[in-house]
Amino acid sequence: MITLGKTEAVHISIYHIGYSSEGESSLFILHTLDKKVLYSVVIDCYEENCNETDRILEQWNLKGKVNLIIWSHPHEDHSLGMIDIIEKYSNDTTKICTANVFADYKQYTLKCQKIIEYLNSLNKGKHCTSRRKIIPLHHFPDLIDKVEFNGKNIIRRIEVICIAPFSYLGGMQGVNKTRDINQMGVACIIKVLLEERNVNFMFAADMDNASIELLNEESYDEGIPTVYNYIKIPHHGSKKTTNMIDFLNQMEEKSEYASTSIFKSKGLPVSEVMEKYKSVVKEIACTSNIEEENYGTGIIHLDYNLNELSVSKEYEGTACVLK
Ligand SMILES: [Zn+2]
Ligand SMILES: [Zn+2]
Repeated sequence: MITLGKTEAVHISIYHIGYSSEGESSLFILHTLDKKVLYSVVIDCYEENCNETDRILEQWNLKGKVNLIIWSHPHEDHSLGMIDIIEKYSNDTTKICTANVFADYKQYTLKCQKIIEYLNSLNKGKHCTSRRKIIPLHHFPDLIDKVEFNGKNIIRRIEVICIAPFSYLGGMQGVNKTRDINQMGVACIIKVLLEERNVNFMFAADMDNASIELLNEESYDEGIPTVYNYIKIPHHGSKKTTNMIDFLNQMEEKSEYASTSIFKSKGLPVSEVMEKYKSVVKEIACTSNIEEENYGTGIIHLDYNLNELSVSKEYEGTACVLK
């Protein structure tokens, strides 16, 4: 339970960091106007010359203070630098959620194996009462964190829901020995419940069409929103994620804003896919300027003022809005 004064201004800062050839990371930081952090989430990590996730967390003074770290799946473009982030910014109560990576982990690249070995080492020889909260996800959907507020302020509750495609994956393993790592990936939805409405954020990692289909089937029963204030576009805007457009198209209301990073060697994002996103989302940004072929480190920073329901947008480096 977090206690806030009635009129205290509450903000959410979202960062989407992308690098010059591949790699991305997202941050969700709930804070007061004077930058006191109330709740923070890191989703994935990458580094290239510099680890921008580290730089921003440092700016926010979050050493040993991050509440939730989600490592969506063991592909290097979502993973490099993750050990340093966990080491520096987590504490004994931080929840560390991963895809279901611990079985058969030698199938992943050496750098991803290292992260899994590191996570295993954190609890080696520890009594169950003092173990770190490392949670491999294989349920759909899973409410992995909930923060309640005292009810005086406009903000009432935060719910973090993870989407892990267990049932689909189970079926897949029977048919197909070589599994597509994106299919085991975890996505996360953060619902912020305010006095009169909700503000919804989706961090879709590299989830593919099959996982998004599950989201579609279960959304009504599980209270999963269909309109979002922010969406991190899945799998860098590839053709394998067009089900997300159908999912968002269910409602007459468009989602507010979405952003993607690039995966240069795979030609992502695909321009036709981004065109389709424009029919379901009002504004779309990319961490690189793909129209001018200016690829580099780009950071999209959105700051939501929950009391006024307004948003300010900042673009650092090569990040910009898609025309
Ligand atoms: Zn991936
Ligand atoms: Zn990726």
